[in-house]
Order: sequence, then structure tokens, then C-alpha cells
Amino acid sequence: MKHAPRIGLVSLGCPKALVDSERILTRLRAEGYEISPSYDGADAVIVNTCGFLDSARAESLEAIGEALAANGRVIVTGCMGGNERDIRGVHPGVLAVTGPHQYEAVVQAVHQAVPPIPNPFVDLVPPEGIKLTPRHYAYLKISEGCDHRCSFCIIPSLRGDLVSRPAGEILAEAERLAEAGVKELLVVSQDTGAYGLDLRHAESPWRDRMVRARLGDLAAGLGELGMWVRLHYVYPYPHVDEVIPLMAEGKLLPYLDIPFQHASPKVLKAMRRPADHERVLERIRRWRADCPDLTIRSTFIVGFPGETEADFEFLLDWLEEAQLDRVGAFKYEAVDGAAANALPGAVDEEEKCFRLERLMETQRAISETRMRRHVGQVIEAIVDEVDEDGAIARSKGDAPEIDGQVFIDDGEDLSPGDIVRVAIDEAEDYDLWGALAR
Ligand code: SF4
Repeated sequence: MKHAPRIGLVSLGCPKALVDSERILTRLRAEGYEISPSYDGADAVIVNTCGFLDSARAESLEAIGEALAANGRVIVTGCMGGNERDIRGVHPGVLAVTGPHQYEAVVQAVHQAVPPIPNPFVDLVPPEGIKLTPRHYAYLKISEGCDHRCSFCIIPSLRGDLVSRPAGEILAEAERLAEAGVKELLVVSQDTGAYGLDLRHAESPWRDRMVRARLGDLAAGLGELGMWVRLHYVYPYPHVDEVIPLMAEGKLLPYLDIPFQHASPKVLKAMRRPADHERVLERIRRWRADCPDLTIRSTFIVGFPGETEADFEFLLDWLEEAQLDRVGAFKYEAVDGAAANALPGAVDEEEKCFRLERLMETQRAISETRMRRHVGQVIEAIVDEVDEDGAIARSKGDAPEIDGQVFIDDGEDLSPGDIVRVAIDEAEDYDLWGALAR
């Protein structure tokens, strides 16, 4: 049996840096790494640097040099890691440089340098981590926080501005999930379209190449892993157009979850969201021309402060034009701390309920028409549940929990996670019925 990989660590600087070192080691120990007390017994060495004073920086550079001379495989992290160029200028041979508090990135650099050896008998945590979803699908979080300031939302004040994960780290996690049997990845964040803007699209290593932190590049990498990949919470930036060809080629699911929230320019302005309804319609047309199977899901808020009957009717007309496949709608509710609370023109509760009903009724008819096109088609579906009456599955256009289902009458011998071809013979507003295609 191969010995467990051994990591050495040199911790410099203040007690905060020491806590970071402890966290890194705790995580590595939980993954089965051993800690080496000497350079020569280690498969790689982490140097946790301090960059507070010039003298501390000099000491950090010296420690990196010593580790390189004694061991040769060195990963640098900590306060000085924020300035990669300075470190690489003196020590170009270091394996990776990560900044302060970037535990995930350090651990990923260790995985790259010295891959963990999974041992199902003793590992406390499986390689893919602990999942709360069924085994065949998993959420993949690509960033945290948001740079927008929508007036109804307090997420930026709770979670801060956008912080994206390096692309290599996300792809490595996705690979572990694929190896653990996950068949469908649900890519989530507060704002998936903005992925990588905060990193200025910096590259990071994955497999034998560098991948940019950019939605199109990340999506292309995810598309190589053989899983269904579904994008959620995509703000409609122009560069989102880059993922449509990947959908048309079958690398990503032809599914976009875009929270438009409204269509009236006046209401969108009050919401502090982009307000170019015509251009959005034009882009939807183009997306569908390039990828005819595309399913578009969205959410809308009715009864936002200042929304008049004319604004609401504008939204209904827009929905008729856009012909979205899936729509969720909510009545506006004030959230403690949201800027929208100060806006004039509160809409009466009864009126909000009435508008919600009208919107859902308008959309029900649109969804029904969109769904009816599947009757007579053979589609692929992923099985979620099986019982004696058959299988409950989802099409490529159905995300778990929020969209419709595909009922397979003769699917009682299938298993969750199976991807099968289904001949559709019946459609309702949200769900489809059919039998296995022979
Ligand atoms: S609604 Fe979404 S895009 Fe707007 S601020 Fe909140 S998290 Fe950001």
C-alpha cells in the first residue's frame, strides 16, 4: 500500500496566520494527509507567509528559498501570497501562490501537487464531500456575493461583493462529483453571469492546461466531464451569448435560468436592474434561433412599489412576446433593510394577489403551448424516483424542485440517475407523460 501523502508546513507571522495554518492542516488531515515535521520527509511544503513589514517579507522570501532548497516542491500562501509577482520574481520555481484566507485554493494546490489517496475504510469524508442532494445530482457553487444593488434585495449587504472561485478549483470539484456518480450539475451563485469579473478572468490550472475564470471557459470545461450541466441565476450580460453555442453542441443543457423580475422600464429602473426590454427580446430570439431546444426559466415580482396597471400590462404583453418556458412569480414583499422599502406607490395587497393570478394564468397558457410541442417527440430524461407505478424523471428543460416532471409509465425497472429516452404522448402546462422509447 502506498504511504499517505505527507505535507510540511512553515507558518510565519501573526496569530491570525497561525489560525489559517491550523485550518489548512485540519482540512488536509481530514482528507488523509500526514503532517511531516521535516522538509525531507514531506512530499510538498506549504509556506504560510507574512507580508506586514519589510522585515517580515524578507523573512518570508528566505523561508520559501530554504524550503525550495531542502524539498523543491513549495506552495506559498498567506499575506504575501497576494503579491504573486514579487514571490515569483525571486523564486520562480514555486508550485503555486495563493493569498490570505484562501483555504480552498491552498488545498487545491496541494491536491494538484500531491493528490490524496482515497481510502474508503478510513476516510471520514468521501472525495466529493458531504452532499444533501440525491446521489445523482449536485449543486456546484461558483462564486459568493454580488456586485449589483437591486433595490428589493439585501444579499449584497449580507454576503458582500462578488468573490469568484478559481476555475481550476471549480473544475476539480466537478470532476470529484462526476467520479462519485453525479450525473447532473446545477451551477449556482448569486450572479452566475458575472463569474470571474472580480478575478479579472485570471487563469488557474486544471488538468494539463490553464483555464480562465470566465463563464464561457468554465462552462466549456464542465461540458467535458460527461454530466448534464445546468446554469442557474444568469444575469443577462452580453457575454452570456458565449454559452449558447455550447448548449447547441450538447456540452451544456439547453437551459437558462434568468431572473428578469419585470419588463416595464420604469419598474426595472426602480428595481435598479437593467431596463432594455427590447434588446432582451431580441437576444432571446437569437438564442432560440441558435439553439432551438433552449428552455428559458425566469422569475418575476408583481406589485413592486410604483407598479401601475399599465406597467403590469406591459409585463403581460412582454411575456406573450418572450414566450418563456417556465416562470415563477412572487408578490412583492418588503425585506428589512432593502432600499425599495422607501419607494412611494405601495400596491395594495389585494391588487398584488389579483396581478399574481393574472400573470400565472397568462403564463400557464404560454407554458402549455410550449410544452405541447414535445408530444410525439422522443426526449432524454433523468430519473429521480421509481415506484411500482413507473418512474418520475425530468427532461433537459426541468431543474429539480422548481420545474416540471416527466412521468414514465413503464419505468418501474429504472433507477434514480438513469438517463433514458422517452417517447412523449401527453403534455400539460408543466409536466409530460410517456413511455420508454424502444
Ligand atoms: S437580486 Fe440578485 S442580482 Fe440583485 S442584488 Fe440581489 S443577489 Fe444581486
